[in-house]
Amino acid sequence: MSERPSRMTSRPTGLQVALMLVGVAIIFAIDTFAPLDIAIAVLYAVVVIASADFLGRRGILLVCAVCVLQTLLSFAIVHGESLQSGPVLRALIGLCAIGIATLAALRNRKAAESLSDQAALLDLSHDAIFVRDATDVITYWNAGAEELYGWPRKEALGQKSHALLKTKYLPSAGTMEQLDDSNRWQGELVHTRRDGTEVWVVSRWAVQRDERGRPFATMETNSDITEQKHAEDALHHARSQLEHVTRISTLGELTASIAHEVNQPLAAILTNGEAGLRWLLRDKPNLEEVRRALERMISNGRRASEVITRLRALARKSNPSHTVLTLNDIVADVIPLVEREMLNNDVGLRLDLQAPAPPVLGDRVQLAQVVINLVVNAIHAMSQIDDRRRLLSINSGTSLEDSNSQMAVLEIEDTGTGIDPKIAGDIFTAFQTTKADGMGMGLSISRTIVESHGGSISATSGDRWGALFRIRLPALQQDEVAAAAEQAY
Ligand code: ADP
Repeated sequence: MSERPSRMTSRPTGLQVALMLVGVAIIFAIDTFAPLDIAIAVLYAVVVIASADFLGRRGILLVCAVCVLQTLLSFAIVHGESLQSGPVLRALIGLCAIGIATLAALRNRKAAESLSDQAALLDLSHDAIFVRDATDVITYWNAGAEELYGWPRKEALGQKSHALLKTKYLPSAGTMEQLDDSNRWQGELVHTRRDGTEVWVVSRWAVQRDERGRPFATMETNSDITEQKHAEDALHHARSQLEHVTRISTLGELTASIAHEVNQPLAAILTNGEAGLRWLLRDKPNLEEVRRALERMISNGRRASEVITRLRALARKSNPSHTVLTLNDIVADVIPLVEREMLNNDVGLRLDLQAPAPPVLGDRVQLAQVVINLVVNAIHAMSQIDDRRRLLSINSGTSLEDSNSQMAVLEIEDTGTGIDPKIAGDIFTAFQTTKADGMGMGLSISRTIVESHGGSISATSGDRWGALFRIRLPALQQDEVAAAAEQAY
């Protein structure tokens, strides 16, 4: 990092002092020895103004005093004996010029010092602050910017900021339109440091305009959020790993049922294949029966392949991709995977699905994971019930929010034990479980998924028995469907 800016009262160099002395001496010599009838002493004003560039307040006053003395001395030498109005007037004009120049130099000095003080204050900021002109050229670069980007002030000044920092706009950066309206903009950017590494920043811009409204300078304040971004990425990664693991473990619980679901059509294919062969090998082949056997083989083959396709989609680890779908689609995806498990546990199914169901924007695999979690939990909660019917009800519908926006609703209700009052308040919190071999992650992940879809999930126990889980997701308006389908991410 280079040194912090001074208050501009840096010591003058030897050359500067020498030049000033030579200047003063030359003016004195001309004023004293040249036979000119003009106010040469006015030239001292130039020396005073020039001295303001490298001298402080005291130095300027000293130069002023020297120039005044030189003027008076020169006057005394040349006109000391006979006071005439012409030379007196010229000397007075010279003295006035020196006085005015001194006042102007002192005022400039003060303004420069206050500017430099403000710049020094900006240097105290941990944020990277720089100013760029209308052509993107950097005109100010604070110590924070040196620290963050690795470019010393000397090298950064005069460069084009976007080229120097290789600015990339993140999608969250939004539009620049607000810049025109409010002269301010805030968003997230990626910049490249001098060493080539990337740095994420929250960037705040403030535009300064001239009287005609044309922008002439933009102050950019950038705070480093790289660590935060890395932590967010790591969290996101960990969460998606966990989601995947719990999904696989839930599917693992269903392995026997799913294997059965696939085996059954395979067995049917075999039976139909053998039957078809027998019809074909008869003395008089019955082609009509062969055709039927083949059709049954095809439809069973499709059934098995559908189950495997759904299973593969759920087992695959892929990034969420949001599409327009309905909660009924999700139920249709899940039923073939849990049907056999329900049969094995003697659980009946009652479906009451609203048709047509409201469209929502969601990730098919994640939402299926939620419904599978809820259904498997419901089956578990009913597996020990013997005094009433084990019934799983799945209802879909629509509800109206206060804000008049519609929500797509899916309810999964069972006639099981009901929610254990000990964990009722924290049922969606991680590691809350009442099962000996439970992880207590299913509902917590389900809630994360539903909330990441802009929805909510709730649980209530029935009056006498059973539990009801309700998922609510924002329904898309008709005109939003096409737009959402286009922008599906
Ligand atoms: P796990 O199934 O591993 O315990 P979950 O997060 O899926 O993890 O469930 C947490 C707890 O919530 C369960 O242990 C159970 O006590 C309770 N629970 C979930 N679903 C039901 C339900 N349908 N009926 C009663 N209790 C339930």
